[in-house]
Amino acid sequence: MATPADKAKKDSTDHTFRRYEDGDFKHLPWQQEIFDADTTYKCPTYIHKTPPCQGSCPSGEDIRGWLNIVRGIEKPAEGLDWQEYAFRRSTDANPFPSVMGRVCPAPCEDGCNRNEVEDFVGINSVEQFIGDWALTNKLAFTAGKESGKKVAVIGGGPAGLAAAYQLRRMGHGVTLFDDHKDLGGMMRYGIPGYRTPRDVLDGEMDRIIDMGVEKRMNTRIGKDISIKQLEKDFDAVLFAIGAQSGRALPIPNADKVTNCVSGVAFLSAFNEGRLKTVAGKVVVVGGGDTSIDVVSVARRLGRITNIHDKDRPENIVLGHTAHDVAEIASREGADVMLISRQPIEGMTAAKHEIDDATREGVEIQGSLSPVEVIIDDDGRATALRVAKMDYSSGKAVVVEGSEFDIECDLIVSAIGQTGNMEGLEGFGNERGLMDADKHYQMPDKPGFFACGDIIRPHLLTTVIGQASIAAISIDHYLKHEEMVKRPKVDVHHFDLLDKLRETNHTPDEYKPAGPDDERAIDRGLRGTIDDDYAVHNYEDRGNAEIVASTELFLGHFEHEDRNKRVETVPDSSQVLGHFEERVAGLSEEATIAEAKRCMSCGMCFECDNCVIYCPQEAVKRTPKEHSTMGRYVYTDYDRCIGCHICADVCPTGYIKMGLGDH
Ligand SMILES: Cc1cc2nc3c(=O)[nH]c(=O)nc-3n(C[C@H](O)[C@H](O)[C@H](O)COP(=O)(O)OP(=O)(O)OC[C@H]3O[C@@H](n4cnc5c(N)ncnc54)[C@H](O)[C@@H]3O)c2cc1C
Ligand code: SF4
Ligand code: SF4
Repeated sequence: MATPADKAKKDSTDHTFRRYEDGDFKHLPWQQEIFDADTTYKCPTYIHKTPPCQGSCPSGEDIRGWLNIVRGIEKPAEGLDWQEYAFRRSTDANPFPSVMGRVCPAPCEDGCNRNEVEDFVGINSVEQFIGDWALTNKLAFTAGKESGKKVAVIGGGPAGLAAAYQLRRMGHGVTLFDDHKDLGGMMRYGIPGYRTPRDVLDGEMDRIIDMGVEKRMNTRIGKDISIKQLEKDFDAVLFAIGAQSGRALPIPNADKVTNCVSGVAFLSAFNEGRLKTVAGKVVVVGGGDTSIDVVSVARRLGRITNIHDKDRPENIVLGHTAHDVAEIASREGADVMLISRQPIEGMTAAKHEIDDATREGVEIQGSLSPVEVIIDDDGRATALRVAKMDYSSGKAVVVEGSEFDIECDLIVSAIGQTGNMEGLEGFGNERGLMDADKHYQMPDKPGFFACGDIIRPHLLTTVIGQASIAAISIDHYLKHEEMVKRPKVDVHHFDLLDKLRETNHTPDEYKPAGPDDERAIDRGLRGTIDDDYAVHNYEDRGNAEIVASTELFLGHFEHEDRNKRVETVPDSSQVLGHFEERVAGLSEEATIAEAKRCMSCGMCFECDNCVIYCPQEAVKRTPKEHSTMGRYVYTDYDRCIGCHICADVCPTGYIKMGLGDH
């Protein structure tokens, strides 16, 4: 049986406890100090990883980077405002910070490691501040050096605009075609103005157009201009045409009546300023963002009794213009109901949007499946027949005999969208969308690319992220280069070399030491410690790994309440005619305070813990004249004994014991 003494002996050979005895203060030769004297054989290395906020942001924004700029850790060059510096960093990936800050459902916040402490960092409220500051201060974008190549971008929604922005930065000429009068796609014709105020939207879009993007509005490709013509006139074509057609309810009679319309058509009529009122009860079928926008708009519009037939909402949605009387007639609160096949908690719309709609007086019922549209002798829908759904077995089961009718005057289907392929036959797939590979190239159609909702309807941030990758692919195509393999973590991440260049710390050019070189002989051809061509002891795993909360020292962070934006959501008695913006941005002071809650996962944020706690004083601050983000501390390996205290107390998971491992 092993005695405690045996165990100690075994531990000593396993290097699991300190080898120094009390009073043993004589330094060993440095090699021994590092490789023999420690308990682990390892010394600290500085490992950059992608934070989960960024990994969850479909645009791949360097969120930690711009938060560190806002909080004052990462400094701009002299003469540049921190606000502008933060704006440049965020718009490297996404040119719409003001819009995103308002309507992005912020998957980044769901992924944020700070959720493990008390609450996520209010990332999109900081993003809104950055974007609004840039608009107030009229910041502009700059185009790259002209390449002489021309790209046709079909669709002036967020995907087309973001692609145009990235392509202009690369110097390519861009012509943007859109069949609407105004740019914006669903940002303008889908999302209501009280969520994306039009001055904010126009400001962010104009900034892109001002980079020298030619726009051709009221021009439908496939009708006004053929694809063949585009092929002749342009070096590459990008489809960013979105999903314009709402899916009809797949139930009897839905396609026979005029007063059963799609959510996108309803919202488009409202956003074009044509739809001013609803009539009787409105029943909306859905569960996602679009359905919530429909019910919220319907509640704001209110209803008019004794409406003129021509002014009925379905006729306006189908293209008529309402009589003026529809605008001035006194109206009352509309009776609006939202039904979802899923239980309410399973609806895809964000929970706070569901709560807001309920507060605004919308009746929401989950677990109801539409069965049939009930029509009268005139062929108008008078009710929607529904059946109850049961999910208790883990499967969706229609409860037999549970059907009942919901009387209504208008049925709105918001159950999904497909593309409008008129004139584009041969480019779509069987789902009414388009296919593209991971570089957003269309299969078997060299020179054609596609991105955005037309690939798969999702979110603004998603289509903007795709546009950025599509632009890189188009750039390769135009230069006749191979497509490069996309990294595992495909984001716009921090690059220490870029940072060193930006701060005039560009490493020296690498000159290999020849056998007679004095430096090489001195060093026995080992190590690079004294050389300035190398970025020492730093590893960038940003494109392969995401730093988990378990890698952080969470005990470092004290509880801090999130700085929340003030939201003025009207209640059911105030909602009629309420078209003002609901969210007030944070003040500058609150924005900075919020950015300070960021734990800078995966990157040094200059807390000094490693410098303070290292018992050997082996970790030192990089002299000020050489210091920059990611190079704030260094280790003196002559002193390090591999005790790993620095790694333990590093709050951000940036320090890992590794160097000297064998
Ligand atoms: C009602 C609604 C609310 C939403 N709310 C949110 C939200 O809160 N947050 C969020 O992140 N996302 C939201 N989304 C999703 C988001 O709006 C879309 O993912 C995004 O707009 C898709 O961008 P896109 O550029 O691919 O397409 P679109 O925005 O649809 O733009 C495509 C453009 O191409 C034009 N076009 C189409 N065919 C042609 C052609 N042949 N020739 C010329 N032009 C053409 C269209 O007219 C349109 O202007 C919402 C969507 C809807 C419908
Ligand atoms: S775009 Fe959306 S996901 Fe990305 S940082 Fe902004 S709020 Fe977060
Ligand atoms: S704490 Fe900061 S870096 Fe970490 S996930 Fe949250 S926002 Fe990103």
